[in-house]
Amino acid sequence: MLNSKIPAGNLEKKWEEYKGHCKLVNPANKRKLEVIVVGTGLAGASAAASLGELGYKVKAFCFQDSPRRAHSIAAQGGINAAKNYQNDGDSVFRLFYDTIKGGDYRAREANVHRLAEVSVNIIDQCVAQGVPFAREYGGLLSNRSFGGTQVQRTFYAAGQTGQQLLIGAYQALERQVALGNVKMYSRHEMLEVVKIDGKARGIIARDLVSGNLEKHFGHAVLLCTGGYGNVFYLSTNAMGSNVTAAWKAHRQGALFSNPCFTQIHPTCIPVSGDHQSKLTLMSESLRNDGRIWVPKNLNETRKAVDIPEEERDYYLERRYPAFGNLVPRDVASRAAKERCDAGYGVGTSKQAVYLDYAAAIERYGKIEAGKQGLENASKETIIAMGKEVVKEKYGNLFDMYAKITGEDPYEVPMRIYPAVHYTMGGLWVDYELQTTIPGLYALGEANFSEHGANRLGASALMQGLADGYFVIPYTIGNYLADEIYSKGVDTNHPAFEEAEKAVRERIEKLMSIKGTQTVESFHKRLGKIIWDKCGMARNAEGLKQAIAEVQALKKEFWSDVRIPGEINEMNPELDKANRVADFIELGELMCIDALNRNESCGGHFREEYQTEDGEALRDDENFMYVASWEFKGEHNWELHKEELKYEVIKPSQRNYK
Ligand SMILES: Cc1cc2nc3c(=O)[nH]c(=O)nc-3n(C[C@H](O)[C@H](O)[C@H](O)COP(=O)(O)OP(=O)(O)OC[C@H]3O[C@@H](n4cnc5c(N)ncnc54)[C@H](O)[C@@H]3O)c2cc1C
Repeated sequence: MLNSKIPAGNLEKKWEEYKGHCKLVNPANKRKLEVIVVGTGLAGASAAASLGELGYKVKAFCFQDSPRRAHSIAAQGGINAAKNYQNDGDSVFRLFYDTIKGGDYRAREANVHRLAEVSVNIIDQCVAQGVPFAREYGGLLSNRSFGGTQVQRTFYAAGQTGQQLLIGAYQALERQVALGNVKMYSRHEMLEVVKIDGKARGIIARDLVSGNLEKHFGHAVLLCTGGYGNVFYLSTNAMGSNVTAAWKAHRQGALFSNPCFTQIHPTCIPVSGDHQSKLTLMSESLRNDGRIWVPKNLNETRKAVDIPEEERDYYLERRYPAFGNLVPRDVASRAAKERCDAGYGVGTSKQAVYLDYAAAIERYGKIEAGKQGLENASKETIIAMGKEVVKEKYGNLFDMYAKITGEDPYEVPMRIYPAVHYTMGGLWVDYELQTTIPGLYALGEANFSEHGANRLGASALMQGLADGYFVIPYTIGNYLADEIYSKGVDTNHPAFEEAEKAVRERIEKLMSIKGTQTVESFHKRLGKIIWDKCGMARNAEGLKQAIAEVQALKKEFWSDVRIPGEINEMNPELDKANRVADFIELGELMCIDALNRNESCGGHFREEYQTEDGEALRDDENFMYVASWEFKGEHNWELHKEELKYEVIKPSQRNYK
């Protein structure tokens, strides 16, 4: 059933061959073809801008008041590209290899290679747009390292890379809006995909200000709607991020792949109490220079600065000498959990480890003193100079930490703990980014993507922009070339009417429950179940319990949720209820997927399957596939397997030692 449409030929030539032979649409026909782009984060804004530039008639939707507020804006650390500006041994192949290995051999070779190839174009595109990437003194673009690599290939704009990239994509998008090629619908939420004769032909969207439902036709529909990490309630995602668009597509027949593959990021500000609704990321870039440690003694009560060097356990450097503090996120997260579970955690909750900049401050200070010819600089001078360098590199992240915790990270080590950050799972797509519904595409974090079971840092921005700027402009033409004879469908067509009616009835049903519990309380309970039983570590027993608990929660939600306000007005509680209802269904599928996968790989750690030293133990013989689920009705899914074939890279036990 699953045809991934990977082109034949050598891996390095596949994309070139594809581009040389895919169908094209001539400019006059492009003007007649309408494309709906749902989502205007990095993936959607770059896609909408590129398709507008090509001449298609584009309608773009987002639920925020401006594309500028998409979750992408939160990305801090950077974006990877195989430019090899550092001359440190990088290449397209190495980026490809690192990504496949980092994903624990659960991603498609052809897609990942294409991603590595176009990574270099992304940087050129963004520089041309004026994205202010950090530069060396001589003017060259600067790079830093992220986890799972031994080269410096991460381009960055201080701690605001996502924001700067989004401004670039946004201005490209706005240019097309001004030219009339793209019509922008902000504060609109897509609530249904409309299918006619099996093809995606439009969407039902709700105007979030008036509450009105709208019908929109498109010859093709692109979902660029981001990830679903908020299913866990607490995550580093923007509060509005949700699964609804992808979930509607799933219920309409689009397969949902690897839903249980969640990325837990090792460097987040720890949970401080029950009142919290959001977690904050401290960028992975901080692991370039920061050292992670816990005390060697159990029940340590001294302050971090009073614990001597020999009584500190730099556990990542100890366990993984080759990569040290820059092991991939799944490995670093599990190692932190292991130390905390063993009783070595720090802070009042004991659910935290230290991220320490003292050594980096001193190192940078000495370099600065050397540069200035200060041979006998005092320790104070060195530290002061080092702090300035660190401020230059990471100042906004340090400020953010200080504001949230009230502690000064220049003086005391930060306390960090893993948190939900990214979802590798998502809608299944083929090489052309098309879902199992013809004409329906998924881009960016919304698709199951190139990251396998674990994404390497700085690869999401790369993938989102690769999809939007460089992949979809080709692959959509291959589909739309056959649509030039198909006239637009009137939105009075019965399929639109039926879809709109279904959306209206669901909203009315939600509003009519008039129960006693808030939407938020259900979301929080769902998050706790999924985090406890399908989070950083899972086991069969817990997953079975979680499935039963989520099913019960769903029942309770649909009989006792209370949504204040009215339908035809701005009603954020209603918006959220719609999303939480979908999260509950997704939560069940995540647990089913995690239970099915009797192995550990990347972000999916089944306690029953681990090596003697606690590393993830894969079962390539039985699980080297993309688990893609077909919705068959309430609590009922059918599994389809896309076998993964490794023709160039030989899968092995991941080793960062
Ligand atoms: C704190 C943080 C820091 C990060 N830092 C980095 C980093 O340094 N490097 C890196 O590579 N990655 C990073 N990531 C990951 C990266 O930011 C995201 O994976 C990426 O930005 C997702 O982009 P996207 O375009 O797919 O989705 P998003 O940016 O989430 O955009 C989704 C869009 O879809 C719209 N939408 C969603 N549902 C609907 C609907 N039903 N109807 C209408 N519109 C809808 C939204 O309005 C929005 O416009 C970070 C993530 C977080 C949380």
